Formats: sequence, structure tokens, C-alpha cells
Amino acid sequence: KEPILEVRGLNVDYGVGPESVRAVRDVNLTLHRGEVLGLAGESGSGKSTLAYGMTRLLPPPGVVAGGEVTYHLDDGSTVDLLRIRDADLRRLRWAEIAIVFQGAINSLNPVQRISTQLVDVIKAHSPRTSPRSRQDRAGELLELVGIAADRLHSYPHQLSGGMRQRVMIAMALALEPRVVIMDEPTTALDVVVQRQILRTLVELRERLGFSVVFITHDLSLLAEFSDRIAIMYAGQVVEEAMSADLYRSPLHPYSDGLLRSFPALKGEKRELSGIPGSPPDLRTMPSGCAFHPRCPRAMDVCDKRTPALGQSSGNRSVACWLHPVAVR
Ligand code: ATP
Ligand code: SF4
Ligand code: MG
Repeated sequence: KEPILEVRGLNVDYGVGPESVRAVRDVNLTLHRGEVLGLAGESGSGKSTLAYGMTRLLPPPGVVAGGEVTYHLDDGSTVDLLRIRDADLRRLRWAEIAIVFQGAINSLNPVQRISTQLVDVIKAHSPRTSPRSRQDRAGELLELVGIAADRLHSYPHQLSGGMRQRVMIAMALALEPRVVIMDEPTTALDVVVQRQILRTLVELRERLGFSVVFITHDLSLLAEFSDRIAIMYAGQVVEEAMSADLYRSPLHPYSDGLLRSFPALKGEKRELSGIPGSPPDLRTMPSGCAFHPRCPRAMDVCDKRTPALGQSSGNRSVACWLHPVAVR
């Protein structure tokens, strides 16, 4: 599969100078065309920081401290999202790469009808379209995400949480982007609604052919819907694998712990064991492998040397001394 978005050596800090902390550390990640890539990790592991860092949407005091983010356009040319001019980046946003922020559901304007908000997005990027065609397109978009077009005239409070979430997806899809990044759009919604929304998104992905980065705590959702999964811990990607492989045999002890933190999707219910302890404070990161204070399998080398993410056999990547890799 061809790559559409490639993140290389990305570092993101909060603050500058001696008080700064590194929230994303040397991350390499590839999103392929048409794929759903799940990004998982405990709260504070840097998922949102990665998503916003790579699209230059970091709120201050966040700063990208290095790296490259290569975006492959349909015509075969590439751009580095971290280096193109602001004006060029604005054109790519929505039209090529759309993002649904964490908590976006609360960002709908409560005093504007849904139609107005959808039409505004369309208008901002295609100012030459007629009001009539924009209105039609808004209705079409709602139906695409499974809402009857006659709800266009509703205000946000007249819709359920699940419907508001669908409206956010409709907005993200307004300009037919090639990449949709969703940052935990569903935490506030119940599990059944979450699953329905994600299913809608994945179906649309198949019809419209975009790629998805889906950020969540809920690994059971990723098992069902994502092709590949990257696991983050303390700002680093510690394992990356096809979903099926990760579920069958997680290589990193942290991935293993995360998988055990959720009930099995199928089959018998398991005990929730979770992972003892909590993620490190970014200001006082443990030496060596950042996970070593919590790792049930830590060895002598683990608090001394940092394992970089490397390719192990079977097209999998892991950052752990338990696993021999070809290149680290
Ligand atoms: P969640 O699952 O809770 O959304 P996350 O994986 O998205 O978590 P981030 O929000 O990216 O995690 O945070 C990564 C780290 O960066 C955390 O340690 C957090 O405390 C730190 N951080 C986030 N925002 C800021 C900020 N504005 N200033 C300083 N540190 C920050
Ligand atoms: Fe555990 Fe060591 Fe692997 Fe880190 S490198 S996850 S401490 S075994
Ligand atoms: Mg987040």
C-alpha cells in the first residue's frame, strides 16, 4: 500500500527552554492510502499532541521541535506540512486533511442552525458555489452520515450527542478530504453509539476512499475497525502492528497490559487487570525504557538503555529489549 502521510522524527515540546517538556519524542508513523490507523495509549501519552503537532494545529505553549511530515498529494507530488507556508497549509486543511478535535462535539455553535454551520464550511473553501447548491450539499452530507436532511434546520441542542457527533463528521467530510483524523470523538458517548458512529465512518471510508487516523482509549473499538494500531507511551510509539497481529500477540509489555485493561470483545469475559502504577511525569522521565518502573518483565538493561522502535520479524515494530529487531 502507498503512504499518504509519513511522520518522521517528530518531536513536540510544551514550552521552550529549561522548563519545557517533551510530549512527543522521535515519532515515526506512516498512514497508508485507504487505511484506518488506530492510535491508542493511556491518557497523557501524547496522542492529541502528535495529531495536532503533525498538522500544525498545536495550541500554545506547544511547539514542534523537529521532524518532517510528508503529505502525498494525488498527483504524486509531496509537501512537508511542517514547512509549507501558512496559506498553503490552510488550503490543505479540510480539503485534504480534516480533523475532528477531541471534544469537538461541544464546538458546534449553539445559536446557529446546523445548516448554517455546514454551509459556512463549504462556502469558506468554495466561495464560487451558489447558495442553493451549498444548501443541497449540506443536506447530502447529513444523509451521508445517516441523518435525515430535514434535520438541517435544527439547532445543536435539538440533536442527540450521537447526532451532533455525526454532524461533526459531516463537516469534516464536506470537502472530500483524503485523510480524516478523529481525536477521541466518542469518549462522552455510550459504547453503542460510539460503535455505530465508527461503523458509519469506516463504511464511508470504503465508499469515498479516504484514510483515517482514529485516536481512542478503547482498544476493543480498534480491534473491530482499524487495520493497523500504533501504541503510545510517554510520548513515544512503543509498538506498531496490524490489528489482528497486535491482538493475537502483543509484543510490548505495555500493549499487553492495555489489551488486558479492557474486556474481550468476543468470547468469555476476562478479569480487568490493567497496568499497575501510572505514566511518568514528563519532567522526570525514567532512564532507559520509560516503561521500566511499571514493567512486569523489566530486565537489567531496561533502566540503562533506551530501546528505539525497530522492525522485528513479520512486519511489526516494537521498542522493547525483549524483542530482537533488525535495525534499532
Ligand atoms: P488523552 O487521552 O487524555 O486525551 P493524550 O494522549 O491525548 O491524552 P496529550 O493531551 O497529547 O495526551 O498530552 C501529552 C502530554 O503533554 C501530557 O503529559 C500532558 O500533561 C502534556 N500537555 C498537554 N498539554 C499541555 C500544555 N498545554 N502544557 C503543558 N503540558 C501539556
Ligand atoms: Fe519492559 Fe524492558 Fe521491554 Fe521496557 S524494554 S517494556 S522495561 S522489558
Ligand atoms: Mg488527547
